[in-house]
Amino acid sequence: MRLANKVALITGAADGIGRESALLFAKEGAAVVLVDINDEAGHATVQEIEKDNGCASFFHADVSSAKDSEAMIAFAEKTYGQLNILFNNAGIMHSYDGNAINTDEATWDLTINVNLKGVFLGCKYGIPALQRAGGGSIINTASIVALLGSATAQMAYTASKGGVLSMSRELAVLHARENIRVNALCPGPLKTELLMKFLDTEAKKQRRLVHIPMGRFGLAEEIAKASLFLASDDSSYVTGTEFTVDGGITSAYVTPE
Ligand code: NAD
Repeated sequence: MRLANKVALITGAADGIGRESALLFAKEGAAVVLVDINDEAGHATVQEIEKDNGCASFFHADVSSAKDSEAMIAFAEKTYGQLNILFNNAGIMHSYDGNAINTDEATWDLTINVNLKGVFLGCKYGIPALQRAGGGSIINTASIVALLGSATAQMAYTASKGGVLSMSRELAVLHARENIRVNALCPGPLKTELLMKFLDTEAKKQRRLVHIPMGRFGLAEEIAKASLFLASDDSSYVTGTEFTVDGGITSAYVTPE
């Protein structure tokens, strides 16, 4: 098992990438703390892991709150004795997010607070825990919009993900000699609640699919497999990367016919 004797904390673990990663990390031997604001789905995922003889707990925390972020890290250390893997994955895409002219301040603030400040707070309280454990792996979920400008306006979301990527690079440099690796995960468009709610018509979905060389949306399970690589010692020389898992979208100028 690739995560035997490791303790992992995953935010946004009640659904999508976080949920699939929690299931996979537990299968690979990790004790997993699932963090989310959706208690019902979070507890249901824990039960699924336990039914499969895995080890997991749910902790309610809003990642944009410093108090909650500090508490989730304390919970992981208290419950399992240490923290080795920190997966800052929770994120939102607000339906009012648009261009610079029509995005309202409340939408901007909420998006930045969850997507960017949430990752900062996870690191602020999580890094000392990884230091106490003698090192570890941090995975911060960014997006391909941190690398490419999207023609579908989502200014606050894009800015938040650019921040996650650049913050991850600097953290990787600052903590490399403490045996702490930090990578930004950059998924392409996925068939999860977050994006499907945004692309709520067939026309919008098709417009996005045109740009993906593989011609399909990615699955949360596929991102979970990439996060397992970054979490495990298989990626022992990988730090500071923009780890892209996107069906080829960032390599495409024009897509194949
Ligand atoms: P999802 O909506 O399926 O799951 C996100 C989870 O985060 C939900 O369980 C939700 O309750 C939780 N969450 C939201 N706000 C929270 C908060 N303040 N505190 C704690 N938990 C909170 O989304 P997903 O597609 O799995 O996305 C996960 C991450 O991947 C996000 O950061 C997202 O921006 C990023 N991402 C998604 C896509 C995509 O196409 N779906 C592409 C690139 C990056």
